[in-house]
Amino acid sequence: MATREPELPPKQERLGDDSEDYDDEEEEGEEGWDDWHSDGDDAAAGGGLLCLFCSARFDSESPLFSHCATEHRFDFHKLVKETGMDFYGCIKLINFVRSKVAESICWSCGQTLSSNSELCSHLHASEIHQLEGKVPWGDDVYLKPFMEDDSLLHSLSVFDDDDEEGYGMPTERGQCSGGNGNLAEKRENHLNSIIDDGSDVIGRLEKACTVESTIRECSEPLAQEPSDKQLKIARASAAARGIKSVDDNYFGSYSSFGIHREMLGDKVRTEAYRDALLGNPSLMNGATVLDVGCGTGILSLFAAKAGASRVIAVDGSAKMVSVATEVAKDNSFLYAENMEMEQKRDTQVISVVHTKAEELNHKIQVPSNGFDVLVSEWMGYCLLYESMLSSVLYARDHFLKPGGAILPDTATILGAGFGKGGTSLPFWENVYGFDMSCIGKEVTGNSARFPVVDIVESQDIVTETAVLHSFDLATLKPNEMDFTAIFELRLSESGAPQSGVTLCYGIVLWFDTGFTKRFCKEKPVNLTTSPFSTPTHWSQTIFTFEEPIPMAKEESVVGSSASVGTDECPAVMIRSRISIARASEHRSIDISIETTGISSDGRKRTWPVQIFNL
Ligand code: SAH
Repeated sequence: MATREPELPPKQERLGDDSEDYDDEEEEGEEGWDDWHSDGDDAAAGGGLLCLFCSARFDSESPLFSHCATEHRFDFHKLVKETGMDFYGCIKLINFVRSKVAESICWSCGQTLSSNSELCSHLHASEIHQLEGKVPWGDDVYLKPFMEDDSLLHSLSVFDDDDEEGYGMPTERGQCSGGNGNLAEKRENHLNSIIDDGSDVIGRLEKACTVESTIRECSEPLAQEPSDKQLKIARASAAARGIKSVDDNYFGSYSSFGIHREMLGDKVRTEAYRDALLGNPSLMNGATVLDVGCGTGILSLFAAKAGASRVIAVDGSAKMVSVATEVAKDNSFLYAENMEMEQKRDTQVISVVHTKAEELNHKIQVPSNGFDVLVSEWMGYCLLYESMLSSVLYARDHFLKPGGAILPDTATILGAGFGKGGTSLPFWENVYGFDMSCIGKEVTGNSARFPVVDIVESQDIVTETAVLHSFDLATLKPNEMDFTAIFELRLSESGAPQSGVTLCYGIVLWFDTGFTKRFCKEKPVNLTTSPFSTPTHWSQTIFTFEEPIPMAKEESVVGSSASVGTDECPAVMIRSRISIARASEHRSIDISIETTGISSDGRKRTWPVQIFNL
């Protein structure tokens, strides 16, 4: 059961709504919470092609673009020629412009205006902006239609006449002209990486036709392709669907209650959020709160209980949105639009919206000053698996007011070396009195390629702990999420005997997140997933070496000419270089680990880099 109240159509469509009420609202600049109302189904109404800038609609593309050129100084055809744009470029440009207009941002100079009418005057009055070779719509994200059922995208006939001259189409074998550089090659890789390898025939056919024809695109004149336009539309939508299908799987996985039961049952996690939200009245009392990825709505419920004046809970899973709505209602926290003020309880503040956080402003009119607090439980295994952090950063940058609080506001990845007990070897060595260590060896060998998410007991940690990387979530930029850390590990006092050799089987990573004094003045909270603390549902993430590295404490080492990292010459220190990067497959991560053992006399041995994908 989706809530009606905040489910407004995309802003752009609202601008197309001629209702006087809305115009008045815009003029007065009032975007109060209580002004939200639903007119969802009207969004799709109104035939014809919608102008990129205003509410005018047209029967076909040609008068629409003439109107854009004369009324809004946006000369589509000229731009296509000047920048040598291909079909995908056109799709991206249209989606890009629509996305900017929805936020009243000038598509060419980037200036933010206070309303659509100001934007239109700005475009009209200003000189035509020079792009100076920049193509700000180049990102493949703009392949995805900004507006649902955007008829303009389907009616694009700019390449229909086989008059490809100057449109960035292939000129010579293997060479694409125009402003998009090595786009075809990039796109081919991109398509290969995002098109689902599913077993359905249509999917496979589409993949074959998409990739093959993309290759062809760069090797033959395009005019020779018979049904080129259809192929290209298929390609663009396959690309968009590729991303969508990963998202569908992802959000689908959150629709089962088991995972929410596990998260809610994780007391360390849930109590950390509860304490941060309920223990800091100076932050939460009267605050407007955005809950990014609300799931069952637990964080919104805490926020409402803590005295928030309004809570918007968003989730990309339709199932969880209906569940969170019901839960909020059953606990008398659901915002009821039509209820008289005097009947309303102070706690009836939660609205649940079905949307990806990135598209919230397509669904509701986000107040221009933004939210006071953004709360989200976005952390995945090894902190970054699932890549939900980029959605949180997007929401922070677009919907949180300047200086607003983000909870949690810090995240730190830590690591340490582990001993044999951190592997499955001891289990297989004695199974009901039988030696099955051959299985243990095979399993451990596999762990050198695939990270294992499991609990490591504190007594199995053999080295000191190192901090790999810290994120300040209030300032972190989306392109700073990938990192490389170099750190050193020595045997710890508690984890290894005073003398003799200790085998280090690999490195275990975990993370802490902080609700620090910056925003949580009364009650700062630290949520740790350390092996030295109560286990959480994140466990730890275990990276096993190809072979264990013998280590010893400095004072127990006698010089030797043997190779470093052997029983004869154990390493006194391991220097590790770990890179964590978001993988090409949406939402997964790649981890590379390079390990160097250093002996007491400073000699080094570096093992081959190990690559893991999570
Ligand atoms: N806040 C809840 C659920 C956390 S799990 C709790 O603490 O128990 C993360 C939730 O975020 C899932 O329900 C998932 O569907 C949702 N989610 C992930 N990425 C999202 C995005 N970009 N936009 C909206 N919801 C998202």
